[in-house]
Amino acid sequence: MSAPTPVRPGTPAPVSVRAPGKINVHLGVGGVDDDGYHALATVFQALGLSETLTLIPGGTGSILVQGRYADDSVPVGESNLARRAIDLLISTFAADRDVSVLQGLDIVIDKQVPVAGGMGGGSADAAAALVGGAHLIGGLDSAVLHDLAVEIGADVPFLLRGGTAIGHGRGERLSPVLTRGQFHWVMATSAGQLSTPEVYGRFDDLTPDPDPVEVPAEVLKALAAGDVDGLAGAAGNDLTEAALSLRPELAEVMEAGREAGALLPLLSGSGPTIGFLARDARHALDLAVLLQATRGVKEALRTTGPAAGAHIVHES
Ligand code: ATP
Repeated sequence: MSAPTPVRPGTPAPVSVRAPGKINVHLGVGGVDDDGYHALATVFQALGLSETLTLIPGGTGSILVQGRYADDSVPVGESNLARRAIDLLISTFAADRDVSVLQGLDIVIDKQVPVAGGMGGGSADAAAALVGGAHLIGGLDSAVLHDLAVEIGADVPFLLRGGTAIGHGRGERLSPVLTRGQFHWVMATSAGQLSTPEVYGRFDDLTPDPDPVEVPAEVLKALAAGDVDGLAGAAGNDLTEAALSLRPELAEVMEAGREAGALLPLLSGSGPTIGFLARDARHALDLAVLLQATRGVKEALRTTGPAAGAHIVHES
């Protein structure tokens, strides 16, 4: 048995933080702004499928990725989004707070959200690191955390907040959405990749002059009523055609889900994961079994939303 790593006296205790993955229940895409970003009108929903990060002070600044979706494509250096969040806290507050606890912070990521699937796993890690890092330096206002999250990426502010929310701008201007009950989703991951910039590029080719975007009122009404049929009739993702033209086999997965009784097959963000809306928990189980046996589906994962945003789960 190896000897336990010595902990320096006075070193703060590790802190564990959980942050959700997400699905875009609706994704409307408009024109491009001066910086080359598309105007979005999206409805995010936080999912039970979540990442857990443990921040361990007094280490060497290492990152360990473990769990179901740990793989070599997740960077463990300074480009890791959790590390970027900690580095941003250090650079922002070094002048007026003691941030030494964040220097040499080891980070363990329990990766339960599929990587590069359009479910915001990396952004969830950033949100979790912001919450844990803020806790270790004595706490921060939610408005300050929001602004830091925006600097890291457009999905990070929502994953801090969780629940269900409209995202405008690049997705970072949030307003909460009323929902009733839990929505049951089956997320079908796929073996191949889809690059986000490539999907938006294809969208531009297919839609040279997009209309200004707004979230349809029927989507909000259905969410407020917990009306899954209403939601299925009104929600959609403007990137679908672009994603399917790059990966035509995803159309077969969507069709298989429809045939299996899914109320709505929905591209998750820019894909390639497809989310299927189920009527209830039992329906989700039936769908997952059928989808798991479908060609082109790597895994069919059951989850529900809305779920909580990034929050501390354990402090030892
Ligand atoms: P998005 O839809 O925001 O483009 P995604 O949800 O499809 O992202 P992520 O799992 O967040 O996909 O990862 C996208 C890429 O970000 C990965 O391929 C990886 O190179 C990089 N990355 C950086 N930090 C992380 C992290 N902590 N976890 C996962 N990926 C990370």
